[in-house]
Amino acid sequence: MCIFCKIIEKEIPAEIVFEDEEILAFKDARPLAPVHILIIPKKHIASIDNLEDTDALLMGKLIVAARTLARKFDISEKGYRLLIRVGEWGGQEVPHIHLHLIGGAQLYEEIRLV
Ligand code: 5GP
Ligand code: ZN
Repeated sequence: MCIFCKIIEKEIPAEIVFEDEEILAFKDARPLAPVHILIIPKKHIASIDNLEDTDALLMGKLIVAARTLARKFDISEKGYRLLIRVGEWGGQEVPHIHLHLIGGAQLYEEIRLV
């Protein structure tokens, strides 16, 4: 089982900030900003590359959950960033789709080739 599936199953602890039948959101263990939340589908999908066409609604729900959490954590007015890494060259570390919600400070560009 992947590490995020273990968090879903409550086998390893996480600071959960939202949960419903399909989605779990929890604080990133190594936050890059004052607010750094990971929003994941409870269905194990390794990456965006593994999505099926029928997962479109589920992925939309991740984004809507991000909007709701941004309001809850009071970062929607100033703005924030949503990020999904895909695969090795995208820098994806955990093989279970996760949408990063990052905010609470001015963010600058960080894409580098070296
Ligand atoms: P990626 O690089 O795959 O886009 O992001 C993986 C994220 O998961 C990283 O920001 C990392 O800090 C976070 N992470 C990895 N393992 C754990 C964990 O066990 N618990 C929590 N809360 N976050 C984790
Ligand atoms: Zn998983």
